[in-house]
Amino acid sequence: LNAYFSLIQRESGFISGLVCVLHDVTEQQRIDRERREFVSNVSHELRTPLTSMRSYIEALSDGAWKDAKVAPHFIKVTQDETERMIRMINDLLSLSRMDSGTSKLELELVNLNELYNYILDRFDMMLKTDDDDARNAKHYTIKRDFTRRELWVEIDTDKFMQVVDNIMNNAIKYSPDGGVITCRLLETHNHVILSISDQGLGIPKKDVAHIFDRFFRVDKARSRAQGGTGLGLAISKEVIEMHGGKIWVDSVEGKGSTFYISLPYEEYEGDLWDEN
Ligand code: ADP
Repeated sequence: LNAYFSLIQRESGFISGLVCVLHDVTEQQRIDRERREFVSNVSHELRTPLTSMRSYIEALSDGAWKDAKVAPHFIKVTQDETERMIRMINDLLSLSRMDSGTSKLELELVNLNELYNYILDRFDMMLKTDDDDARNAKHYTIKRDFTRRELWVEIDTDKFMQVVDNIMNNAIKYSPDGGVITCRLLETHNHVILSISDQGLGIPKKDVAHIFDRFFRVDKARSRAQGGTGLGLAISKEVIEMHGGKIWVDSVEGKGSTFYISLPYEEYEGDLWDEN
């Protein structure tokens, strides 16, 4: 802790006060360290796809382009990696907008039951359309367990949908084929709680505390291979906290994970139009 003192002297020459500025150095050091780590992480994260693309492109230009067996695969890899880098840059930009406070919420009063159903319907729909491409498609069943009560909350619909999409995509990505994903919605006295449970890999105990950190993945290679950027949950956390809410996870390794989102909720007593 650093302390700076300065005397307040009136024009008359009398001393009328003392200002003391306390500065927490350890906090500043932590911020500096995190910033350095972040830059180093970004560099590594971008170097990996770039170096792998360089090898594929070198192989192609050395003659592999003539080989009809390997060329399409090499090109596909470079395309996928390019897409992933674009996703990463977009994620980094939205994090940076949130960090600097330039990203504002566009709040509207939304029926959460309806919105949650709408999002999950899209995932059910994807299952149907994926059938044509059965080799890549993973099967899953979505179970819904919602309160009957209509829950109206003020949220930024687009940003909130991104969060739920992200957690749903993870639930599918880190689950075995044919897994059940249970989606719940309930209210407590002054919160609404939305949860998504999967029967997937789960998260090792030692990693649970880091799961919302930027670029943190339990298994880097696996996440990359699935097109992950390691930023989805970090963005989700920022968005939910901007809403005054909380996001957390309960997980048992090998059994599955449940992600929870809670938002402040005020129950309207009686008539919405009643001033009191
Ligand atoms: P990624 O792009 O790697 O999926 P996220 O920020 O969305 O990045 O998630 C960070 C990490 O958290 C993932 O790499 C994975 O290790 C872990 N994770 C996220 N969701 C789940 C889940 N439902 N089950 C198991 N692990 C998960």
